[in-house]
Amino acid sequence: MKTTILGYPRIGSKRELKKSLEKYWSGTVSLDTLLQTAKTIRQKNWLLQKEKGIDIIPSNDFYLYDQVLDLSFTLGCIPERYAAIKNNSNFAKQDLYFAMARGLQKDTIDVTALEMTKWFDTNYHYLVPEFTKDQSFLVADSKIIEEYKEALELGIKTKPVILSPVSFLLSGKEKEEGFHRVDLLEKLLPVYETIIQQLIDLEVEYLQFDEPFLATNLSNKEQEAIQTTYQRFANKFPGLKIILANYFDCYGENLEVALSLPVHTLQLDLVRCPLQLDDILNSKKLQAHTHLSLGVVDGRNIWKNNFDASLNLIQKAIGAIGKERIIISPSCSLLHSPCDLDLETNPKILSKEVKQWLAFSKQKLEEVTTLKQLANQENLEISLVKLHENTKIHELKKTTPLIHNSKVKERVKALTKEDSQRANPFSVRQKLQKTALNLPLFPTTTIGSFPQTKEVRSWRAKHKKGILSAKEYQDLLEKETKETIQFQEEAGLDVLVHGEFERNDMVEYFGEQLQGFAFTQFGWVQSYGSRCVKPPIIYGDVSRENSMTVKWSSYAQSLTNKPVKGMLTGPVTILQWSFVRNDQSHSKTCTQIALAIRDEVVDLEKAGLQIIQIDEPAIREGLPLRKEDWKAYLNWAIKAFRISASGVADETQIHTHMCYSEFNDIISDIANMDADVITIECSRSQMELLDVFAAFKYPNEIGPGVYDIHSPRVPEREEMITLIEKAVKYIPVEQLWINPDCGLKTRHWEETKKALLEMVGAAQKCREEF
Ligand code: GLN
Ligand code: ZN
Repeated sequence: MKTTILGYPRIGSKRELKKSLEKYWSGTVSLDTLLQTAKTIRQKNWLLQKEKGIDIIPSNDFYLYDQVLDLSFTLGCIPERYAAIKNNSNFAKQDLYFAMARGLQKDTIDVTALEMTKWFDTNYHYLVPEFTKDQSFLVADSKIIEEYKEALELGIKTKPVILSPVSFLLSGKEKEEGFHRVDLLEKLLPVYETIIQQLIDLEVEYLQFDEPFLATNLSNKEQEAIQTTYQRFANKFPGLKIILANYFDCYGENLEVALSLPVHTLQLDLVRCPLQLDDILNSKKLQAHTHLSLGVVDGRNIWKNNFDASLNLIQKAIGAIGKERIIISPSCSLLHSPCDLDLETNPKILSKEVKQWLAFSKQKLEEVTTLKQLANQENLEISLVKLHENTKIHELKKTTPLIHNSKVKERVKALTKEDSQRANPFSVRQKLQKTALNLPLFPTTTIGSFPQTKEVRSWRAKHKKGILSAKEYQDLLEKETKETIQFQEEAGLDVLVHGEFERNDMVEYFGEQLQGFAFTQFGWVQSYGSRCVKPPIIYGDVSRENSMTVKWSSYAQSLTNKPVKGMLTGPVTILQWSFVRNDQSHSKTCTQIALAIRDEVVDLEKAGLQIIQIDEPAIREGLPLRKEDWKAYLNWAIKAFRISASGVADETQIHTHMCYSEFNDIISDIANMDADVITIECSRSQMELLDVFAAFKYPNEIGPGVYDIHSPRVPEREEMITLIEKAVKYIPVEQLWINPDCGLKTRHWEETKKALLEMVGAAQKCREEF
C-alpha cells in the first residue's frame, strides 16, 4: 500500500508567491528574486511531503500563474497576438508568459490576456487555451523536466503531474470555425510522447495524467479520444505507471471507458462520490492489474477526516483487490485547501473548539499517512492513539451545542409551502408596487456598491487595529453614505442605494454577524494568479441574532424621499463562497441561511425600506458538473432564495442580481425565483443574452446592464441609448430597468459619477422616445 497526493498548494503558507509576484509586476523585485521564491516554495513542499510520509510525491504541480497556462506554454500553444513579444529578444520568456496571463501594454505593444474561466465547480480560475484550425504544437518549454530534476537533486523521485491531452483540448476554445478542438489530438500526442520519453530517460516511474473531464458528460468522440490516448501511451511506454486522475465527481457513465484503459492506477474521488467504490469493485470490467487510488481525504474542504468512515472504504477495497493494489490519497489536488492549520494561533479569531475539527493541506498529508498506517497495521501504537482521538472528536461533534441549535432545526422542519411563496403572483404584485413606488418608465438604479476607495479601506483597517474608535469609524462611514445619497439624488437616479461602505466583502460581512460561522487568519486559497480568497467556515446551525443591515439602510433612507434599496447577499451565494459543513446536506445548511436572510428582509421592510435586493451571483456557478444532477440542485437552491424573499408584503419589491446572463439551460429556474426585478450583466454581449429571456417570455422585470463596470472607461450616452433600444426589441418597455452591469466598488468616483450621469441621461432620452 502506498500514499500519494495529486498536488500541493503553490501560493505558500503565508502567500509568499503572491507577494513576490505582485512585487515583480510592480517592478520592485527582480525576476531572479521571484524565481528564487518559487524554488523555495517548491522545495519546502516536497520536503514537507517527504517528512509527512507521502510515498509518491508530485512535481509540476507548481505554477507561477496557472497550471493550464503552463501547459499551453509548454506545448507552444501561443496565440498569434503574442508574436511581437515572443520574437522580441528584449522580453524574457516570463514576460511572454505573464502577457498571456494578464495582457501587456508597453510601448507599441497592446495585447489582451487569454480568457479566464472557472476550473470545473471550484473557485480556481484557469486561462483558457486558444486553438486555430491549423494549430500546431511543439515542445516549447522544459519546465516539467526541470522540476523533475530539481526534486531529484533533493533525493526525491517525483510523479510529474500533467493535464492529459484530451482534457487540455477540452479546456480550451476554437478561435475559428470549421473544426472541433478534439480533432487536434493527433497533432498533440507526439508532443506529449516526446515529453514522456524525456522523463523516462530520467527514469521516471509514475506519471499522473489529470483527466477531470471524466467527471462530466462526454460525447462518444471524446470518450474515444481518451481511449486512443492511453492506448498509444501504453503501446509506446509499456513500463510506465500511469495514474489516471479523475476528481470532483464520479466517473459516472464514463466508468466503463475508464476501467478499460490500459493505465496503472485509477484515482477515485471518494469524498464527492463514495458510492462509486462498490460499482468499481463489483465491476467485471475492473482489470486484474489495475490499482486504485482511494481519494478519501477531502481536498476541497477543511474538515478533519473521519478515520472510521475512511477505513471502512479502504478495508472494503483491500478485501476485494488486496493491499498491494491500493494507494491512499486526497480526493483531488490540495490546491483547493488552505495551507497550514498550525498557523492559526489566535483563539480570538479561530476558537480552539472549531480548530480541533479542521485539517488544512499540511494536516491532510498526515491524515493520508495515518490512514495508510492504520489500514496496513503499521506503527500501531501511535496510529491507534490517533484513531481513538479522531473517533472521539467526531463523536462529540454530533451533539455539541456549539454546532447544534434545536430552534433552528425545528424551524427548518416546520417550513411549509407558503413560506417559499409570495402572497400573490407577480402580475398582482406588479400593480401594487407600481402604485406604491410610483417610478417612471425605465427606472434607473445601481447594483449596490459605490467606490471602495483607499480611504474607505484604510478606515476599516485602522478601526480593526484600534486606531479609529467605533464612533470615529461610524462617523466617517455615515459621511461617505450621505455624500453618496446626495450624489444619486443630484444625478437623478430613481432607486438609490447606501453604497455598502461598511462591508469588507459581500459574504464575510454577513458571516461575521451570523451564528455558526468561523474565520481564519491564514486560510487562503488561490482563486487566480496571485489572487487568493479566505472563505468563511460554516461549522454549525446558522442563525441571526440581530439585524445586520437595517441600521445602514434606514440611515440612508432617512436622508432622502426617493426609495432606497436594502442590500443583502442571498443564501446560495453565502453557501457557495464558504467552506460548508459536511455533516448535513448543503440544502439543509442553505435553508438555514435562507431563514436568517428572510428575517433580515422582514426587518428591512419594517424599517420602511420598500425595495430589497438579494444578490445571488453564485447560483449558476453552483450547478453540478453533470446535467442529470442539475434539477436536484436547482430545486433546493431556488427554494432557498424564495424562502429568503417571501416574508414580505406584495407591495415590497424584491430585486436580485447576478453577474452574468448566460441562462440558456436554466431560464425557467431563474423565472421560478420569482424576484420582482432581476439585474444582470449584458453590455459586453450587446444585449444578445436577452434573447433567452425573450424566447421564454420572461414575465417579471429585468435590468440588463447598460455599461461594463469592469473597465474605467466612461461610456457615451449614445452607446447606452443604442443598447436600451436593442433591449426594447427583446423585452417590453414596461418590464425594463436601467442600471450598470454590476457593483461599482472597484471603480473610482470620477468615472463613476460621469458614467451614471450619462446613464440617467440615456434613460431620460428613452422615456421621450417610447
Ligand atoms: N451588491 C453587490 C455590489 O454591488 C453585488 C456584487 C456582486 O453581485 N458580485 O457590489
Ligand atoms: Zn454582479
